[in-house]
Amino acid sequence: MNKLHYSELGLVNTRAMFTQAMEEKYAVPAYNFNNMEQLQAIVIGCSRSASPVILQVSGSARSYIGNSFLPHMARAAVDLARETGKAVPLALHLDHGGSFELAKECIDAGFSSVMIDASHHSFEDNAALTKQVVAYAHDHDVSVEAELGVLAGIEDEVVAEKSSYTRPQEVARFLELTGVDSLAISIGTSHGAFKFKLQPGQEPPPLRFDILEEIEKLVPGFPIVLHGASSVTREHVDLINRYGGKMENTAGIPADQLRKAAASAVCKVNIDSDGRLAMTAIIRKIFAEKPGEFDLRKYLGPARDELVEMVIRKNTSVLGSAGRIK
Ligand SMILES: [Zn+2]
Repeated sequence: MNKLHYSELGLVNTRAMFTQAMEEKYAVPAYNFNNMEQLQAIVIGCSRSASPVILQVSGSARSYIGNSFLPHMARAAVDLARETGKAVPLALHLDHGGSFELAKECIDAGFSSVMIDASHHSFEDNAALTKQVVAYAHDHDVSVEAELGVLAGIEDEVVAEKSSYTRPQEVARFLELTGVDSLAISIGTSHGAFKFKLQPGQEPPPLRFDILEEIEKLVPGFPIVLHGASSVTREHVDLINRYGGKMENTAGIPADQLRKAAASAVCKVNIDSDGRLAMTAIIRKIFAEKPGEFDLRKYLGPARDELVEMVIRKNTSVLGSAGRIK
């Protein structure tokens, strides 16, 4: 297969995005997508709210979309942003890349940023694999995200029963060994829509801001990433349950905690579950209210509109990324 560089698609890497986010104390949203409607909604929402955005796909999302489609979707996303309003900068990022081969394949296929997730390996093995990916990525001016510490929960590529917090004393050494551009840390966020086991009325445990602050002190100005940072919006879970769904005991990260994180060294916040919930809620509602409907546009269209609104809300009132692109 011919190599394709992301600049040919009109994409950017995350370097300038993170520099500005660090200076102006907000976080760049990283929204996951799996299909055309999701991607359109994310791009329209970010263009309308003048927010930079990281479009991310997991390895399995990439397989689902298909390698022949993905570069064309990225190019179309760049055009769509321009047509909608602000030509906001777009990065295409591999979420939770599990191997050097996958990271390389994505870099050669037009990705501008990759995550290499070797957090479940030993510190040494994690650092060695990350370093290998960084060498290849930086040769192509592609950004690399790695992870130290383990998040609990379930996501496309990730299943972990128990979390282990990032150890701040390991961070500086890891950055030195690898030359990585950003680091995902574990401070109590969790993958999926069922982040915490809570009794009725109980609040989720607060994030470990003490760990984040310690890391900030040890590596000042270094971009930190939060995974598993969906709020699991009550409104959408309620709609799902009202219209025949069954999602019990869901729990996410409260918006005020995310606001606090976004104002810190956290430069990238990953949001997957909230986008899934928004679209599923509207599709369920339409299926229940209009059981004869079978025109895909009549339910995917409104679901896309709902996701646009959610993206604008997040960028504006949680991450602070709205209005940053002049
Ligand atoms: Zn993740």
